[in-house]
Amino acid sequence: MTERRPIIGGNWKMHTDLETGMALASQVADAASTFESCDVVIYPPFPYLQAIDSVISTTPLALGVQNFWPEISGAFTGEVSCQMLKDLLVRSILVGHSERRHVLHETDDLITKKVKFALAEEFQVVLCVGETLSQREAGKTLEVVLGQVRSGLDSVKTEAMEQVVIAYEPVWAIGTGKTATPKDAQSVHKSVREELVSMYDERVATSIRIQYGGSVKPENAKELFACPDIDGALVGGASLLGESFAAIIGAAC
Ligand code: PGA
Repeated sequence: MTERRPIIGGNWKMHTDLETGMALASQVADAASTFESCDVVIYPPFPYLQAIDSVISTTPLALGVQNFWPEISGAFTGEVSCQMLKDLLVRSILVGHSERRHVLHETDDLITKKVKFALAEEFQVVLCVGETLSQREAGKTLEVVLGQVRSGLDSVKTEAMEQVVIAYEPVWAIGTGKTATPKDAQSVHKSVREELVSMYDERVATSIRIQYGGSVKPENAKELFACPDIDGALVGGASLLGESFAAIIGAAC
């Protein structure tokens, strides 16, 4: 782990109910209070944000969302605006998650627009990137990942990069129990950082936090976090169990 402050995210996806979500948030808030040297963000489902905020508002745990719509307001049935999220004290937004890219068919253009919009609204943006298994097997990992980084950050200015976190999540590792080896993950993270030197400068590249995601568990977290360019994790399945998530936070802090 480097001098960058680690950041651990818990992406709850479409899981939990009101009662279990509030209990989980409270457990995670306790864990986040114990470990002060990292940032911890949870991304619960929209309907539970307000209830969960009431559980965590006086704790170091930050509230994030899994999605939003990049317009101020208007006729966008079923969508949620940045202002609505600000009313709920949301600070962080996931953009470009593989399930939004591959299951909900979000395009690169929409992802670029969302990144820009959320940054202008002063949210922290976690830009998720990652290759599919067939892209990896075709030797296209870096082409895909660096392409998603370039396109996601298209026209994002240097000043706004302080609000950006990148999550490298190989699609084949998400929810499958398969994790990239620390060596493979480290090598992609290093390439992302090098790409950021050419897109921005050395300062942006060395200060940005790059999380790894894809079947992170207490058993593999320490080894992943020991890699010099891995600055924490975006965790799905293991973030739904207070004890596992607390152990992952503990491994990073
Ligand atoms: P997983 O999910 O930890 O269950 O693989 C990670 C993610 O989707 O962010």
